[in-house]
Amino acid sequence: MSNLTAAAPADPIPECPHCQKPMPLCICDSVTPVENRLGLLILQHPQEQDRALGTARLTAKHFPKAVVRVGLSWPSLSKALGQPVENASHWAVLYLGSARAADLEAEAEIVALTRKGEVAENQRAILGKLEGIVLLDGTWSQAKALWWRNPWMLKCQRVILNPSRPSRYGRLRKEPRKDGLSTIEAAATMLAGLERRPDIAETLHASFERMLARYREVQAEMPELAPKPVVKDRRRGVRRGKRA
Ligand SMILES: [Zn+2]
Repeated sequence: MSNLTAAAPADPIPECPHCQKPMPLCICDSVTPVENRLGLLILQHPQEQDRALGTARLTAKHFPKAVVRVGLSWPSLSKALGQPVENASHWAVLYLGSARAADLEAEAEIVALTRKGEVAENQRAILGKLEGIVLLDGTWSQAKALWWRNPWMLKCQRVILNPSRPSRYGRLRKEPRKDGLSTIEAAATMLAGLERRPDIAETLHASFERMLARYREVQAEMPELAPKPVVKDRRRGVRRGKRA
C-alpha cells in the first residue's frame, strides 16, 4: 500500500474490469462462484456512480448467467436480458416504490404484490413459478425512474422485501428505509429465499462483508479512493446512528 500512496497523482489507479472498482478496492479474487437456478438481471441507472461502495457487478460476478445492464430503458425484458424470455410473468422485479411490507402486514421475507400494490393472494404459486429476478441498482429516485421508464416491468411480477435485519452498510451508506438493502443483499435475500438455498445468502453476505472491510482499510490509507460516502437521503430522521 505505501508505495501506491507515494505514487505521483498522474499515475491513474487501475480499475478492475470485472467489478470496475479501483484495484485496491477489488475483492473479485475471493469471489466463490454459485451454481443456481434462477436468472439474475441487474439494471443499473447510468447515474449510479458509486463505484467504491456499489455492489451490482460484485453480485453478478458470483453467478455465471447474471447480466448487468447500464441504461434508462429497454423495449422488453428479452431485450434487456439479451435473450428471449417466453413469459415475463415468470420474472420478478424487486421494486419497493411506496409499498412497505410492514404497512401491508406481510410477514414473509419476499412478498409478491398485485398491480395495485396490494399483497397478492397466492404467494406460494406466484413465487414458486419464478424463473428469474430483476434488480434495480441505484438510489430511490433512480430506481423509480427505471420502474416508470420500462413499462414491460408491469408484465413481470412485482415483489418487495421484508428483510429480517437492516442493511450491512450500516453507517457507510444511510438508507432512508429499514427495508432498503444493497443490491447484493437484495439478491441474497431473493435468491436464497426463492431457491431455498441459505448457502447463497451466506456466500453473498460474506463477499459483501469482505468488500466493506476492504473499503474501510483503504479509506484509512487512501481516502481519495474510498471517499466518505455521500448521504443520499435528505428526508427526516436519517440519523439512525447507533446501528451495529
Ligand atoms: Zn474486481
